[in-house]
Amino acid sequence: MFRLPFALVALILLPGCELLTGLLNGGSGMLETRTSSVQSQDGIATIDVDVSGESAFQLTATSGQLLAVEAVNAPDGSQPLYWDDWSGVNSLTSAVWLEGKDTVLNWPVRQADGNLSDGTWTVDVAVVDDQGYYTDDQVDVVLKLKDDSDLSTGTVNARIVYADGLKQDSVVTAGVQDAVTRWAEIWAPYGINLETSYEDSSFSTDQPFPGEGSEQAEVSSGANGSEITVLITETIDGSTDYYGIAGGIPGTLDYTDHALVIVSWLTNAGGDGEFSDDDIRLFGETLAHEVGHYMGLFHPVETTFDYWDALDDTDDCGGQSACESALGDNLMFPYPVCDWTSCTPQDQLTSQQAGVNQRYTGTL
Ligand SMILES: [Zn+2]
Repeated sequence: MFRLPFALVALILLPGCELLTGLLNGGSGMLETRTSSVQSQDGIATIDVDVSGESAFQLTATSGQLLAVEAVNAPDGSQPLYWDDWSGVNSLTSAVWLEGKDTVLNWPVRQADGNLSDGTWTVDVAVVDDQGYYTDDQVDVVLKLKDDSDLSTGTVNARIVYADGLKQDSVVTAGVQDAVTRWAEIWAPYGINLETSYEDSSFSTDQPFPGEGSEQAEVSSGANGSEITVLITETIDGSTDYYGIAGGIPGTLDYTDHALVIVSWLTNAGGDGEFSDDDIRLFGETLAHEVGHYMGLFHPVETTFDYWDALDDTDDCGGQSACESALGDNLMFPYPVCDWTSCTPQDQLTSQQAGVNQRYTGTL
């Protein structure tokens, strides 16, 4: 990429001008939205986050180049997140992965990350070209800060959007509503209150993965800025292989083509088009699991049994039988554990997992 001499770059640098664009009410907490545009320099966009009493923030950055969070710097000069500390077998946030032209960071992720102290935090976002080299670009930033002094309880607003024709299908709508009841029951013991709204749409009943569909930015554009969009489809990526998929770990409260969770009603119904009681239980667990990803939770162990989350109180088991025994009832276990007659209920969260979901900026 053509690079301007430094002096000229300095002249055209824009300050990170912040504009208060919204203040939304939800639950007991308040959510504030600030937007800005930052020009990167030597491959790094330095984004200021001014904190005064807020308890968590979510940064969504987009540009024409690949983006990943490189570091989070606290007002006291410490650096509680550096990307290379999380490039091994434990996963804290997908914000550090160089995957696309947007990146989403929720901070703090865990109780162990400490509180959000007052002062100016900075987030260093790497801007990288498709050859893997640092480059420079304008980075558009949406910051959401929540003012919520109680991180042990909160309300999550889920906006359930039916793909084309499904809201007119009573089998689907009855199944979704029963599954949502189950979802709320799963979350209640962990202090998470679920509020839902329902919408009709004409979006396709088969959707590719989040970020790959032409309609997906439009799906998210109907959200109110504090809601998580859940699109109910018939199939995902042309098959019934997928129960559901989340647009990010964490996912954004802003409007992008990753700003949704997609769930297949047909897969959750077992493929036969009818919901048994076990199907409803599994469907509710799928909704809580996928939205759990969106709120920052990784699987406690991946299906290869050699990658784990960043939490101390989820077992770092090895091998299939040991992991099914230690974690098979965990909501975030990567697959259903079933025998000939039934599947193990997967509805348990550890204290630290619940803490991640409570720290999500959309949990108000
Ligand atoms: Zn999962």
